[in-house]
Amino acid sequence: MGMYKHYLMQQQSQGWSSVGDKFVCSKCFEDYAIKKFIKTHAEATNCDYCGNTSKAPVAASLDEVLGFIADGLHREYEDPCNGVSYDSYEGGYLLPVTDTGDLFCELGFGNGPQKLFDDLVRAFSDSQWVQADPYGDLPCDALRYSWEQFSEQVKHRTRFVFYRLNTRRDWEHHSEPYTILESLSQIVTTLGLIATLPVASRIIRARQHSSSKVYNRAGQLGTAPKEFASQSRMSPAGIPMFYGALDEMTTFKEVFQMDTAKDTVTFGSFKTLKPLQLLDLSNLPKIPSMFDEKDYSRRMPLLFMHDFEADVTKPIIKDGLEHIEYVPTQIVAEHFRHVFKQSNGTPLDGILYRSSRAPTEICVALFCTKDECTDDITATGKKLALFSVSRKTINFATQTFV
Ligand SMILES: [Zn+2]
Repeated sequence: MGMYKHYLMQQQSQGWSSVGDKFVCSKCFEDYAIKKFIKTHAEATNCDYCGNTSKAPVAASLDEVLGFIADGLHREYEDPCNGVSYDSYEGGYLLPVTDTGDLFCELGFGNGPQKLFDDLVRAFSDSQWVQADPYGDLPCDALRYSWEQFSEQVKHRTRFVFYRLNTRRDWEHHSEPYTILESLSQIVTTLGLIATLPVASRIIRARQHSSSKVYNRAGQLGTAPKEFASQSRMSPAGIPMFYGALDEMTTFKEVFQMDTAKDTVTFGSFKTLKPLQLLDLSNLPKIPSMFDEKDYSRRMPLLFMHDFEADVTKPIIKDGLEHIEYVPTQIVAEHFRHVFKQSNGTPLDGILYRSSRAPTEICVALFCTKDECTDDITATGKKLALFSVSRKTINFATQTFV
């Protein structure tokens, strides 16, 4: 079979047609995967759309690029005539469909040269698009749905025996909401969302108190004892956890309360005595493009993880009901503390996450008891040693310290 016939068959099966012998350069697209494809397939020294010219080839055949785009589109969209019910009385398809032009605008193709946009739309002329598997959920949406169901269940229906309930109706294809915990484990392992904090890493903890008090020991500045462990984002009251940050200001913002009777803050700088393995929600990889064939398998889990991360680190108003809002995240933290194991069988030591009060800064919640914090920097068998203490006065007007 000749190349020409091969192209024609590819076009027909992918639902597009050639708009002529044209060449396009990588500058005409924003998507990194399309840019890369063009660079590796460049054969012309001139772009027909933006006029970019070079001695070396910079532009690829638009037909080849169209084939590449069609491959990406069909990962997440399909022709509604393949499976969506149609009712001429109701005025068309019974699910929302998108025209090529609207879809291409959504994908950012409208930000390049107008002539290119027109040719792209013309190549896929008369097409309408619907989400692939139109009556099902994309994997990222199924995960989101499961997380929302789980959050609703443990906040408002059952908090302690959710893993024993059978709430699924026979006609439902979704699994029990609590299976989201296992899905999270799998995603964390597959995406490699574990970071190592090496020995001698510095973690700061802060305590706000009245100026008459003096705190300078690990027992006073480290993890609270179980009888005083208050509830927080990652742990319910009574279950101790070490909360800190990588710098003083973030730690301060996390603990600060508008309580003028507590006008002093003491910072304890701790050093890690062993390497700590942490679930790292603070630095999620970017979401791969739908056109990125090589990394596409990471796209759905990362779409979900970015939403999940935003949800578990969102600011929560302290209105007396915050303990309800914290519950789903506390269960997730407990799951990663006690159930999750790394591929080598070892458990995690904590979670890195973005501060809700300083979103560009990083907080850490360590699965570390009071007994694992020490004043002895040479100790063995402990996780954290206090190595310096600083005491500052709070300026309530600026909500900072001096
Ligand atoms: Zn160009």
